[in-house]
Amino acid sequence: MICSQTILTRAGQKHMLGQQTDSAFPSASTREDFVRNLAAVRARIAAACARVGRAPDEVRLLPVSKTVDEARIRLAYDAGCRELGENKVQEAMQKWEAMSDLDGVRWSVIGHLQTNKARHVARFASEFQALDSLHVAEALDRRLQHEGRSLDVFVQINTSGEASKYGLAPEQAAAFIQALPAYTSLRVRGLMTLAALSADQSRVRDCFVLLRSLRAQLQQDAPHGVDLHELSMGMSGDFEVAIEEGATVVRVGQAIFGARNTPDKFYWPDASPSSDETV
Ligand SMILES: *Cc1c(COP(=O)(O)O)cnc(C)c1O
Repeated sequence: MICSQTILTRAGQKHMLGQQTDSAFPSASTREDFVRNLAAVRARIAAACARVGRAPDEVRLLPVSKTVDEARIRLAYDAGCRELGENKVQEAMQKWEAMSDLDGVRWSVIGHLQTNKARHVARFASEFQALDSLHVAEALDRRLQHEGRSLDVFVQINTSGEASKYGLAPEQAAAFIQALPAYTSLRVRGLMTLAALSADQSRVRDCFVLLRSLRAQLQQDAPHGVDLHELSMGMSGDFEVAIEEGATVVRVGQAIFGARNTPDKFYWPDASPSSDETV
């Protein structure tokens, strides 16, 4: 068993280094807790938008409910969450089935997908944010045709250069995007990234800047029907920086649901502090 004090999260590290101004992520176990946490996150989104002259409604908040149990997700729903992001397909599908009575929930799969699990995503997801393989695109499209559904997709880009991160290298993105119109059930919406796991804010910001400039470059000869408007970037520890750099979707878990006990390396294999950091 892992002792909770030894778990290092991105935000936890920053907190220890004194760069995080808010306290550790407050837990949420009542509807009121969720109302409070959601309002706090929305206020921070609005403040970040104001700093750079953006309108708050340009930024979509995607609450990330991974590891959160059904009872607490229902409380978040009561507090107004209508979109839920999940990293793992199996967990997402179980929750979708268990909560099919809730009206109007959109499930977004934001984690790496293996081709053999594409059929699950095709059944229930409204959105898939981690597309980085044409095999997966092909499998999704085939199953979506079968289901008579379509799916919003984001192309995941590895902007940090960390081997532990999924996603395409930036220089692979153009050719990849040219191939996507063949998969007619996929509606390409934009790009997604995870910033470097670093306490150095300028390194984190560089990742977001790279995603935005890559979008500008790709938009110049995007194939017909491919819309690259969206930039999904920013999580609990870095969403304000992401908004300053143009995020249109922020994926926020812990700042809404409370600190998670599962270390990030469960989601990003080998995610560990990089060697340039003192922790
Ligand atoms: C868990 C997760 C998030 C949210 O992280 P928090 O630290 O909980 O805000 C965002 N994106 C992806 C891909 C995730 O797996």
